[in-house]
Amino acid sequence: MSILTDKIMRHIAPKANDMLDMRSVVMGLFGQTGPEVRSQLGDLHRNYASASAVLRNRTEDVAVVWLGNAGSITINRTVYTVDNCHWHSPAEHTLNGIKYELEIHIVHRSAQNQIAVVAILYRYGSPDPFIDRLFGSLKNLTTEDRPLGSVNPESIDFPGRNYYRYKGSLTTPPCSEGVVWTVFQQVKTVSHSQVDALKRVLPPQNRNNARPTQPLNGRPVLLYDPPRRGN
Ligand SMILES: [Zn+2]
Repeated sequence: MSILTDKIMRHIAPKANDMLDMRSVVMGLFGQTGPEVRSQLGDLHRNYASASAVLRNRTEDVAVVWLGNAGSITINRTVYTVDNCHWHSPAEHTLNGIKYELEIHIVHRSAQNQIAVVAILYRYGSPDPFIDRLFGSLKNLTTEDRPLGSVNPESIDFPGRNYYRYKGSLTTPPCSEGVVWTVFQQVKTVSHSQVDALKRVLPPQNRNNARPTQPLNGRPVLLYDPPRRGN
């Protein structure tokens, strides 16, 4: 990966004026109902595969970086190939004003270099199975990559079907590129020791690696909230 691309991949977080509190703003924009808005989105279409990956300490965060083609997601007919996933602690997005303990970003890139990020939030509770699998490699992780063997992004385990969708921006040039954000509504759990392990290998000044929550500035946020199956 080129240095420029790598730099872009590290700075996919929303720009300072992006909306980060999802649900309260969705309710403000669309009220309690708005099925025509919500039904346009559809389930997040994932087509992942197992591929060789490494665990990488990027000093700003810890990332699983896929070396082989681990598949893609499709949004509005654009195919975005998965590149890496990495963690922020505390979370960067808030839900109902709650800032959770951890957030994973799964970063994807299209053939035209457009970026799509899928985010999942975690609160303290039972250990997360995906992090559990990396736990041994995470211990004393230096800036030397640790091979993980074959990893399927689906093993991150995406929670439910509901998600928020909005367009953000890159924080570094070229800022004109749009970033499509997908934030799952259901919050997962992670243990204290897992969050500690992700933080401990980073330099002390980077251990809280989330950017502060910022106001919306009128940016639309959509909620995909499909009817329950089997009713
Ligand atoms: Zn991130």
